[in-house]
Amino acid sequence: MVNVGRCPVGGVLFYRTLFSALKVAFLPPTSPLSPDVSFVLSLLPLTLNVPLPSNLLDEVCYLSLGFAVLILPEVYRKLLTLCAMHVASIAPPYVSTVLGSFSHSDDACLRADGAPDDVAEQRKKAFADLIDKLAKLFPKSSKIYDEIDGRFSDIRFFDVKKVFFPFREMAKKLSVCVVATKTDGPYLVDADGHKILDVSGSYGVNVIGYEGFKSIGNRAHKETLNDLGPVLGPIHPDLRGALSMLSDVSGQPECSLHMSGTEAVMCATRLARFNTKKKFIVTFGAAYHGWYDAVQPGVGNERPVPDIIVLKDQSPVSLQVIRSRAHEIAAVIVNPLQAFTPNQPPPSDGTLIGKVRDSGVTNAREDFRKWLLKLRATCSKTGVVLIFDEVYTGFRLAPGGAQEYFNVKADMICYGKALAGGMPIGAVCGPAELMRRYDPDHPLRLCYLVGTFSAHPSIVTMTKKFLEDVKKIDYQKKHDEGHPVRLAHFASVWLFQYTEPGRFHWLMQYYLRSRMVNLAWVGTGRLSFSLDFNQEHLSTLRASILLACQDMEDGGWWWTSGPNHSSVIKKMVNKEIAWSLTVSAGRKIRAMLGLGRGAGGNRKKAI
Ligand code: PMP
Repeated sequence: MVNVGRCPVGGVLFYRTLFSALKVAFLPPTSPLSPDVSFVLSLLPLTLNVPLPSNLLDEVCYLSLGFAVLILPEVYRKLLTLCAMHVASIAPPYVSTVLGSFSHSDDACLRADGAPDDVAEQRKKAFADLIDKLAKLFPKSSKIYDEIDGRFSDIRFFDVKKVFFPFREMAKKLSVCVVATKTDGPYLVDADGHKILDVSGSYGVNVIGYEGFKSIGNRAHKETLNDLGPVLGPIHPDLRGALSMLSDVSGQPECSLHMSGTEAVMCATRLARFNTKKKFIVTFGAAYHGWYDAVQPGVGNERPVPDIIVLKDQSPVSLQVIRSRAHEIAAVIVNPLQAFTPNQPPPSDGTLIGKVRDSGVTNAREDFRKWLLKLRATCSKTGVVLIFDEVYTGFRLAPGGAQEYFNVKADMICYGKALAGGMPIGAVCGPAELMRRYDPDHPLRLCYLVGTFSAHPSIVTMTKKFLEDVKKIDYQKKHDEGHPVRLAHFASVWLFQYTEPGRFHWLMQYYLRSRMVNLAWVGTGRLSFSLDFNQEHLSTLRASILLACQDMEDGGWWWTSGPNHSSVIKKMVNKEIAWSLTVSAGRKIRAMLGLGRGAGGNRKKAI
C-alpha cells in the first residue's frame, strides 16, 4: 500500500541507505559522485510511487531494514580488516601474561632436546669450558659489566631477549658484554686489548665504517663544538647544505629534524593525521617502527592502541582494506627492511630455534618491489599518505635508501641512525602540505611539534658532512663483494640460517664472541656490515664463523636424534609451553587464594 503522505521517513531512510551501500560498494571514495547521490536517488521511490510503510509495524520494519543496510558497509569493512590483520596485533595484550616464566635446571638444559647421558656429559664439559674461556678472555670487560649490572636497565632488557626463556639462567653464566675503547676499521679494541670484528652495526648506525664516522666527527666537532658550542635556536650555516642534500636524497622539498628514529616516526604519523584530518595509521606485519607504544600494538603493549591497523605484508586483502577505509586512513607506514622477513618480527636468537627461517630473501627485492608498487598505486588512488620508515634502510640499501633501491617513491620519509654521521638524529622529509603544523583556515588548530635539540649545530654539520661523503661511495661495488659464508643477506644486512633444527643454536653467539666477533644485541639474527668491510675482513669473519661452528660440533650442541629430530624438539618445546602455562595458572590461583607470592609477586627476582 502506498502512503507517501503518512510517514515516509523509514522508506526514505531505507532507500537512501540502500543506495549509500551500493555507492560504497561500487564507487571509489574519491569519486566525484560521492557527495550524496544516494540522497537524491532515495527520493525517487517517493515520486515513482514505490511502496512505503503504511502503519507503525511497517515503519519499524523499514527502519530496521534501513538501519541494517546502513551498517552493512561498515560490517563489510570491519570483516575485511579482520581478514587482513596481522595475527600479532589481534592477540589481546593479556596474552603476554598467560605464559609464566620458568628456568630449566642445568641438567634439564643440557637434555632439552632429549639428548642421552653421554651427550649431556659432553655438553656439560663444553659449557664449563666455554664459561672458563670467556672469563679468561674478557676479565676487565666482565668486571666493568658486573659493576654496571643492576644499574643500566637497557642492558638488562637486551640480556632477556637473547635466548629462549627457559635457558636464561644458563645463559647468564656466560659473559659477553663488550667494553669497547677504540676502533680500527671494522675491529673494536676492547677493554682487555682484543681486536674484535664488529658486525653489530652499532644498531644499524655504522653504515660507512667507523673510520668514516671518525673523520666526519673530528672535522665537525672542531668547527662546531670548539668554535660555537651548543647554540640552539639560531641556525648554523651548514643547515642550508644539509637540507638541500636531504631534499635531493628524499626527493621531497621540506624536512623536519629530531633526535631519534622513534621521534621521526612520531612526527611523520602525527603530521599525516593533522594534515589529512583522518584517524588511522596502517602498519604491516610485525614491522618495527621505534619504541613508542602507539606504533607497537598487540602483545606486550600495556594499553590498547585504537588508531593503528596492522595488516599483513604483501597481501592483496590489505590493499582492499586500504581502499575501502581510505576515508579514515591518514597514512600507511612501511619499514622496507621487512622485505627480509615479511610478516615476521626481526629475528633473534630467542626465536632461531629451528629449521631454516623463511627469510623471503631469495626473491626479496623483486617481490617486495612489486608489492611496494601496488601499495604506491593504492595510496595514490585513494588519497592515503605513503610513509617509508627508512630509519634503518636509508643510506644502507643505497644512497637514496629504499626509495632508490626499489625505485618506488614515498610521500613522506623518516630517516635516522647514520644520517648525522654517528650522532643522534631523526628526520622527516615531505611536501609542504603534509609537513605543515598549522591550519591556514583555523588559527587555533596547531600541531605542536617542536624539540629543543632540533638542528643542533654539531648534528647539522655532521649531517652535511655525512651526506657529502655518502655521495662518493660506490654502493653497488661494495654490495657485490663476495659473501663467503652461507648466510641469508639483504644488501649489507645478514642473517644466520640453520639447515638442521636445534635447541642450542643460541649458543652460537657466545662461541662467536669467544672467537672475537661482536654481534648486535639480537645476536645471529641480524649482522649489519659497514661498507668498509673488505675481502680480508670477510675472510677473517669466515674463519671465525668456521671455528665457532667447530666449537658447536665439539660441544655436542648440534647432536641430533635422527631424521625426526625436529618433531622431538617440537614436542619438548610444547611441553615447556604447557608447563609455563601451568606455572602461570598456579601463580594466579595462589594469588587469588592469598597464598605465597602469587602472580606479579616475583618482581624482585625478575631478570
Ligand atoms: N624505525 C626503524 C625502521 C628502526 O629500525 C628503528 C631503530 N632500530 C627505529 C624506527 C627507531 O629508531 P631509534 O632507535 O633511533 O629511536
